[in-house]
Amino acid sequence: MIDRERLRAALSQERRRFEAAHPRSRELYERARRSLLGGVPMNWMMRWPGGFPLFAERGEGAHVYDVDGHRYLDLCLGDTGAMAGHAPERGVAAVIERVRGGVTFMLPTEDALWVGEELTRRFGLPLWQVALTATDANRFAIRLARLVTGRPKILVFNWCYHGSVDESFVTLDAGVAKSRPGNLGPPVDPTLTTKVVEFNDLPALEAALAPRDVACVLAEPAMTNVGIIHPEPGYHQALRELTRRTGTLLILDETHTLCAGAGGMTGRDRLDPDVLTLGKAIASGVPAAVYGVSAQVAQRIEGQIRLEESDTGGIGGTLAGNALSLAAMRATLASVLTEAAFARTIPLAERLAQGVLDVIADKRLPWIVKRLGCRVEYWFQPTPPRNGSEATAGVDAELDAYMHLAALNRGILMTPFHNMALVAPAAGAADIDLHTRVFGESVEALLA
Ligand code: PMP
Repeated sequence: MIDRERLRAALSQERRRFEAAHPRSRELYERARRSLLGGVPMNWMMRWPGGFPLFAERGEGAHVYDVDGHRYLDLCLGDTGAMAGHAPERGVAAVIERVRGGVTFMLPTEDALWVGEELTRRFGLPLWQVALTATDANRFAIRLARLVTGRPKILVFNWCYHGSVDESFVTLDAGVAKSRPGNLGPPVDPTLTTKVVEFNDLPALEAALAPRDVACVLAEPAMTNVGIIHPEPGYHQALRELTRRTGTLLILDETHTLCAGAGGMTGRDRLDPDVLTLGKAIASGVPAAVYGVSAQVAQRIEGQIRLEESDTGGIGGTLAGNALSLAAMRATLASVLTEAAFARTIPLAERLAQGVLDVIADKRLPWIVKRLGCRVEYWFQPTPPRNGSEATAGVDAELDAYMHLAALNRGILMTPFHNMALVAPAAGAADIDLHTRVFGESVEALLA
């Protein structure tokens, strides 16, 4: 459908336009290369398609401003970390007040109770702990699963992502488990610790759990990190049944799927995990994450953690549970990422999806749109992938780069992988329609 020569020419043109419009970002990047590895404070900030990253100046609601004075509709939202929008008023007020009153004590604050009670209301699990990042929450959840089951292995789904969790970097290569491409300096071969099967493949899951050597399945309720992959009808029920039958704990990671609603997919679809993990957006981007456990898991943990060893047992973090994280979480849950906010963002995401579908239909393109709550993606293939292998096989890196850069040059930040757009509570219909227009123009330039 897409003429590759035309696509390459269009991408080069967008690169020139990007360079011309961002002299200050370029200058900062050149300087940063002398003091920061790769010119950025964290290496994935180089994943943007223009050759150097924009340097951000500030964010406000659904918008971001860069150091060259451009304003962008932000549909990347820090890859979910800023799903609450930038600088939400109530969140800012709570954070300022907390900073003035001290941020870390090695003592609990009352906000922690409010947060625990609210998490139980939303997700159903009765008992919670706080970590600094979703990666840590997952690492700690895995440790607890090993502790209570006494089993050596974990199971993940092919091409999952749960943060920089060593044990999760296993993928299938022609049906054989291998260390994931790009897995840097693994402490041990992760195929020793981890089994991997395709999402939506129940016979494979059943076979992997049958030897009863798996402590836990670590899963997103819908995969989001190779594009959105929805569970097929009945999948969650079967996953729960198989894990129960084999004495395997089920950890659901709702870090991204919180986009489905105030209680994530667990609240929306009445899922019943043994452990639930969640980070990123939950404190409006202030570092914070949580993990909750069922009463039964809590009972099995009890008596196994000796107080004298509680800070050296592999679960912890000096700053975990600090007063600032908890104040930001409380404000976010109480007044920003509320039921009312999702009642606003989900219809806007539906509008975005419909706008893209209309362009696709008008141009007769063999493309699809996927949506989970306030998260939307377009995918340049005719059928939705069922699992990680199908999704990775369907990636068109050149077309992705062009679409991202064309959007960026027209005032829209998309997530720089798998064409993901997330809608913040501060966005409005006019913002969504701008995206539809820009998407249409970007496609038009390829087909003309
Ligand atoms: N879980 C999921 C589903 C994620 O997508 C990510 C990060 N993309 C994480 C956990 C880890 O989050 P963090 O990098 O903030 O620790």
